[in-house]
Amino acid sequence: MKTYDAIVIGTGSMGSATAYEFARRGRRVLALDQFDVPNAFGASVGVTRIIRLAYAEHPKYVPLLRRSYERWRDLEKVANEQLLFITGGIDAGDENSHTIQGSLESCRQHALPHEFMSAADINRRFPGYRLPSEMVAVYQPDGGFLMSERCVVAHVNAALAHEAEVHGRERVLGWDVSAGRVVVTTDAARYEAGCLVLTAGPWTPSIVTRLAQFVVAERQVLLWAQPRRSEYFEPARFPVFNMEAPEGRYYGFPVHHVPGFKIGKYHHRNESVVADSVDRDCYPEDEAVLREGIRRYFPDADGPTLAMKACMFANTPDGHFLIDRHPEAENVIIAAGFSGHGFKFCGVVGEIAADLALEGATKWDLELFRIRRLTN
Ligand SMILES: Cc1cc2nc3c(=O)[nH]c(=O)nc-3n(C[C@H](O)[C@H](O)[C@H](O)COP(=O)(O)OP(=O)(O)OC[C@H]3O[C@@H](n4cnc5c(N)ncnc54)[C@H](O)[C@@H]3O)c2cc1C
Repeated sequence: MKTYDAIVIGTGSMGSATAYEFARRGRRVLALDQFDVPNAFGASVGVTRIIRLAYAEHPKYVPLLRRSYERWRDLEKVANEQLLFITGGIDAGDENSHTIQGSLESCRQHALPHEFMSAADINRRFPGYRLPSEMVAVYQPDGGFLMSERCVVAHVNAALAHEAEVHGRERVLGWDVSAGRVVVTTDAARYEAGCLVLTAGPWTPSIVTRLAQFVVAERQVLLWAQPRRSEYFEPARFPVFNMEAPEGRYYGFPVHHVPGFKIGKYHHRNESVVADSVDRDCYPEDEAVLREGIRRYFPDADGPTLAMKACMFANTPDGHFLIDRHPEAENVIIAAGFSGHGFKFCGVVGEIAADLALEGATKWDLELFRIRRLTN
């Protein structure tokens, strides 16, 4: 049986960053994925992911975000490729909405640069937007997007350059801990290591069954539409957005890399799924959900549909991440349940997972992410 310092199960967004982290710390690491590396089934698909600093979800994310920005800039140097694009970011909604109040709270607690703006101000400054007068907005200059699929490639390449071993097309069937060592069984072989990190995304329930009820896969759909006024949807004039509307929470991007203005809606059609059997086709009902948001808030983008793509969130009950040691095995680390907003944190999650696996502790505050908050 081949032995390693660490094994990472899942070489997607978080797993590729974690493998790189072990490797750059000089550890012998094996990263496994059931599909190709990279693949079109993980949670990073669809070209881009939003990054923002004034974090509406909770002010405790802000220190991790500062570190994440640093890590993306470092990775760009390693990869010699631009991965992070700053466009500014807009949080929009009713003044009393969680999105607006949460974003302002993060700005207050962390003294973040921002502008509190009326809908009319936003529509004037960024003409692709048509916010209704009852909405307000927090504009943050640090918002932008990451080239998510390229980020995974960059993390894998960086890990390989530090002599990580990465196996695609090898499905993990199970893992076990005895006498402080971890044994991982795949459909091809068995491997042993001093520690294990589980970054299986929406497949987490099948690899850590005791957490199955706390990490629920959900089908999501993205849509790219041809703008009628393409000049309004260029990255220089169109900040990314996160909008709490009466009918749900939309997010979207300027035109970049592939044709079309891109929009998604959190929890889309509220379809909980089992990861292996998710329906990856897209239907008129999916289009209708996203078309409604385009028509109401971005009418100048309401041209023909260019593309749609289905992928999965991995949701926890409270929407906060699960990053912790396994309750029964201290050398097994779980990083899962990123609930539709984890991508921007890949670098710092890799750092934390490696800290916990190798040192048993981390300098980062993990209270929000502990397993016991869900099990107690
Ligand atoms: C439509 C959509 C939009 C999003 N928008 C944003 C955004 O704008 N900003 C943001 O920050 N986040 C966003 N997110 C969330 C973010 O993309 C995810 O939180 C993040 O990518 C999750 O990474 P992961 O590593 O947990 O999962 P994944 O990237 O899916 O990786 C899991 C990997 O584990 C592998 N695996 C699973 N089981 C096994 C097994 N038994 N054996 C071997 N391999 C296995 C899988 O094949 C897969 O490659 C979005 C997500 C979606 C779906």
